[in-house]
Amino acid sequence: MRILVLSDLHSNASALDAVLDAAKDRWDISVCLGDVVGYGPDPNEVTARLRKLATHTIRGNHDKAVTGLMPTDDFNPVAKSAVDWTRAQLKPEHLAWLSALPPGPLARDGVVLVHGAFQDEDEYVFTPAQALDGLLDSTAPVTFFGHTHHQGGFSYQDAQLEVLQIHPRPSESFAALRIELPRRYLLNPGSIGQPRDGDPRAAFAIADLEHQVIEFWRVPYDISVVQQRMRAAHLPEPLVQRLLLGR
Ligand code: ZN
Repeated sequence: MRILVLSDLHSNASALDAVLDAAKDRWDISVCLGDVVGYGPDPNEVTARLRKLATHTIRGNHDKAVTGLMPTDDFNPVAKSAVDWTRAQLKPEHLAWLSALPPGPLARDGVVLVHGAFQDEDEYVFTPAQALDGLLDSTAPVTFFGHTHHQGGFSYQDAQLEVLQIHPRPSESFAALRIELPRRYLLNPGSIGQPRDGDPRAAFAIADLEHQVIEFWRVPYDISVVQQRMRAAHLPEPLVQRLLLGR
């Protein structure tokens, strides 16, 4: 069974469409690591698409902020302004769906899903020290996390923690990682709607545990049309500009 792993969609319908086109006929079930909304111009469209796909989705911090499940005191002014805009745009049925999303960790089809760190859904995992808890404590050998918007991850075996640099080259669509059990993995598929690892292409992953391979994908999409929609919606200019930079 092949699992399509989506994360940090951030209300970017053009990026999500490009991902679903590229992944067509390559997956059997789909999962989402949260941050369905926030930052981008298409909160209703992206939520509707995810609901239609019947994706197993956990909540992210932006989903919690938009639905009022967490305060926005810790958000910077730009992010907070996008949260307020998103809340005003969302149809009540989509707000209700987002507010009912379960928190991670969630075990599903042989993998574990978390938004941030294994022990705290709102914490970032950038460093090996921050990754260690998830590698040791997760109930499955392969755990997917999001939140940082950086594609890649970590693996662990025999008290050795390895940083996995997995990025498709600009000319390539995906890079494959071979899974070698009983090694443990904490993997980030990257962000669909707002990548921050220097590659502006939309990121996702496809996991095939039976064949012990996980593909980390990047797909281009028309960033300028998303930027036009963001400017028309008067979303903050720094959010508009960072899409093109992938930072
Ligand atoms: Zn996010």
